[in-house]
Amino acid sequence: MAAALSLSACSSESGGPSSAKTEIETKANPKLYRNFYEIFTGSFADSNGDGQGDLNGVTAHLDYLNTGDPKSTKDLKVQGLWMTPIFASPSYHGYDVTDYQAINPKLGTMADFDKLIAQAKKRKIAVILDLVLNHTSSEHPWFKKALAGDKKYLSYYNWSDSPKKGYSLASNGKYYESEFDKGMPDLDLSNPDVKAEIKKITKFWLDKGAAGFRLDAVAYYYNNSETKTENFTNWLVSTVHEQNPDAYVVGEDWSDSVVIAEMSRKSDINSLFNFPMSFNNSAGALQNALLMQDGSSFARMTAEWDKNLHKANPAAIDAPFLANHDMNRAVNFTYNLEKSKMAAQTYLLLPGNPFIYYGEELGISGSGIDQNKRLPLPWGINNPANTKESVAVPGATESVTTIGGTVEEQEANPNSLLNWYKKVLRIKLRYPEIAQSRISKVDVDNSSISALNYGKKYTIISNFDSKASISLKLTSQMKQKIAERLSVTGAYITLDEKKLTLPPYSTVILD
Ligand code: CA
Repeated sequence: MAAALSLSACSSESGGPSSAKTEIETKANPKLYRNFYEIFTGSFADSNGDGQGDLNGVTAHLDYLNTGDPKSTKDLKVQGLWMTPIFASPSYHGYDVTDYQAINPKLGTMADFDKLIAQAKKRKIAVILDLVLNHTSSEHPWFKKALAGDKKYLSYYNWSDSPKKGYSLASNGKYYESEFDKGMPDLDLSNPDVKAEIKKITKFWLDKGAAGFRLDAVAYYYNNSETKTENFTNWLVSTVHEQNPDAYVVGEDWSDSVVIAEMSRKSDINSLFNFPMSFNNSAGALQNALLMQDGSSFARMTAEWDKNLHKANPAAIDAPFLANHDMNRAVNFTYNLEKSKMAAQTYLLLPGNPFIYYGEELGISGSGIDQNKRLPLPWGINNPANTKESVAVPGATESVTTIGGTVEEQEANPNSLLNWYKKVLRIKLRYPEIAQSRISKVDVDNSSISALNYGKKYTIISNFDSKASISLKLTSQMKQKIAERLSVTGAYITLDEKKLTLPPYSTVILD
């Protein structure tokens, strides 16, 4: 994995207030702005009591994500769903595929998938599928045929006659590239036959109603060439967009901000996850803002990143997130309810498509081995398809804990983290410009304060101090009227004669 992650490494320009002249217009497809939710498919919800989360379990709980009724107060109002791999695979996680056009029988059937898509469409939830193309499973028929000496399939993979770093010994006496694991042979993505297979796979799922793809391990497509990786990603993205111009493609390029911006420029991909801002990065902007109570640096770094990303690719949609299935849970960084709420309102109100990792909205914990980061969602005993006791993640050494109880308990508690996520996501939907605007920092004479202008429409100001209330005078660069208040402690945000008073951990939207 890449080291030296930094949000500001892209440019030495200051993040000062930008004039209209330097403002970068977004050229993104406006249909692709959505608030997303990531599900670890095998752990989310078990529909038939076999201890395994499944597609019907997801379908049974779609109302939790979005009922489809704009007036409903019970859902999270997310509009996009990323499911970790659902294709045939021998592992519990599915990141080693044996058949790209079959549903993993542990998760259900193709008919279950069709039902899920139909129900999601009713609720206007776009479902994107996890596409693992860097490697297949060593159990994939392609690899088995290669081992049996079939020349066509031998050329699907990368071989060496002698031992090499990242290569494993095969039964044919040769070594095959297997950067992640010996059970995951790397595909030769330059092979036209492999590309033809990929084209067939993406078309198959788009025709079945998938709204796009999450690309796994983009940084590993070619281990020794960023250029080849960028070119292949560009081919893949344009192939998908030829098949459906409104398909959404988001990539996992777990790299620093320079590499991510360059990948965005070269590949034309809709989104790349904002790893430098995530909680797994010790120099991350949000983690630092919470730890040091430094809102000013947060505003500077996020505005710089927004500018650099869109300079590289004006059609890019940023994809901020706190943590995913490969990372310690967000609450293992924030620890308490107040800080978790502050983290939520900060990243959910950034431009672009935020990705909530299932259970983050409950403050579910989990760290260390991967299985602990993928624990079952505690629905509570009266929820349909209850999974609290039934889903088992093989090998997990931690059990499920949250800050505030099960879904059922948090739904009933107006102060719960779950209800805070609902509140913030509703605000985000009321002001679509928040997702689509370019941001610029507004200078404020207090390091705890983050002040950002969203295009010409809104100013969002946050107080990162965990204890102190801060008053500041609104300047002419800021909007002047309070549109929304988010105060974690419940203390009131006031505006009196241009003097704005922000209690600890509070955010105000001015228009
Ligand atoms: Ca099941």
